[in-house]
Amino acid sequence: MKIKTAEFVISNSEVARCPNSSLPEYAFIGRSNVGKSSLINMITSRKSLAKTSGRPGKTQLINHFLINGDWHLVDLPGYGYARVSKSIKKTFQKFITAYFEQREQMICAFVLIDSRHEPQPIDMEFMQYLGEHGIPFCIIFTKADKLKPNALDRNVENYKAKMLETWTEMPEYFVTSSENGLGQEEVLNYIDNINTQFLRN
Ligand code: GDP
Repeated sequence: MKIKTAEFVISNSEVARCPNSSLPEYAFIGRSNVGKSSLINMITSRKSLAKTSGRPGKTQLINHFLINGDWHLVDLPGYGYARVSKSIKKTFQKFITAYFEQREQMICAFVLIDSRHEPQPIDMEFMQYLGEHGIPFCIIFTKADKLKPNALDRNVENYKAKMLETWTEMPEYFVTSSENGLGQEEVLNYIDNINTQFLRN
């Protein structure tokens, strides 16, 4: 898929106020600082469509972008920052779960995982939640350029092994780098294939 147009549509804190549209949408979510904004910019070949984070946790909004006029890319707030209070975390959780549970046109959630790190409980728990609610998701490993090829392969294999402790199969996954564009084509093709099926039905 070629990105012809990518436009910001709306930011809001309520699922009910998300665009009134049946276009298929794809959500990007992950821990704060995982590289989500950079990835969204890389995927869409735009320099600053998503604002790279100055202060993690500041922007707790659902951001919709219209891509090529025919699908929505949704930038969800990062989770798991240490500096916010428990009650903010709870409110945040509600707001994210409301999005996933109410937004029927949400086709696939891309869960971003920093390829450098060991599997983290917060990501595992989040994917567990998605699984339990029948919400389709893929994994996107970010910042692949920061590792040597062997270390990257080892970490991905390690992640798979960890996932297979609780899942019967490894979800679809992509290895990406916003620094050098690795994975852009694969992610866009994946979205394109689903969109084609979606439009046929
Ligand atoms: P967000 O908080 O998840 O939106 O993360 P950002 O996109 O703001 O990225 C957090 C930090 O990681 C920034 O300093 C980015 O420059 C850096 N970063 C993000 N993606 C990559 C990547 O693919 N490679 C490298 N080397 N750095 C990255």
